Amino acid sequence: MMIGIDFDDVLAEFITPLLRYHNEQYGTGFSIEDVTKYELTKTLNVPRDEITRRVDAFFMTEQFRDLPLVDGAEEATRILTKDHDLVIITARPIKVRDETIALINKKLPDRFLDVYFTSDWHGNGADAGRKKYEICHEQGVKVMIVDCFQYAHDCSMNGTRSLLYDRPWNRENNLNDKMRRVKSWEEILKEF
Ligand SMILES: [Mg+2]
Repeated sequence: MMIGIDFDDVLAEFITPLLRYHNEQYGTGFSIEDVTKYELTKTLNVPRDEITRRVDAFFMTEQFRDLPLVDGAEEATRILTKDHDLVIITARPIKVRDETIALINKKLPDRFLDVYFTSDWHGNGADAGRKKYEICHEQGVKVMIVDCFQYAHDCSMNGTRSLLYDRPWNRENNLNDKMRRVKSWEEILKEF
């Protein structure tokens, strides 16, 4: 079976290291539990273009190039490759492609057939204009594992079952019968 996997906050921790950087740079005191909406503007209380600027600055840091993996992701993806084909589908911009591929090769080598960048945040990527659910459809992805409710929902409405990785920013949403909330990689393995 072809399985699609989101990168940030599913395979690698992103929001926690980003907030740590943000707290150091801007004197804030945010933790992951404060991020109760997917749009960071709601938590950080700054305009979207300023968020983009701050995230771009984070992209330049060593912390970004060395994000820690989500607990269990290393072992679970190794197990899944035995019987399944895995692809990464990320909303990251294409401009961080090299850093992303380097991190995957360093921490999750020999697991993924391909990595797709939808560049939802910044536009102009190689896959820009294509949505995650469209890539899933084109590539024959049967299950997508993702933390963003909207992406998970879009997939579920377009023929790809979705596993919503439990995070503070997706807890207010109601899931349909083609979606399932998962709280760990251990739980994800039980779905296959
Ligand atoms: Mg994500």
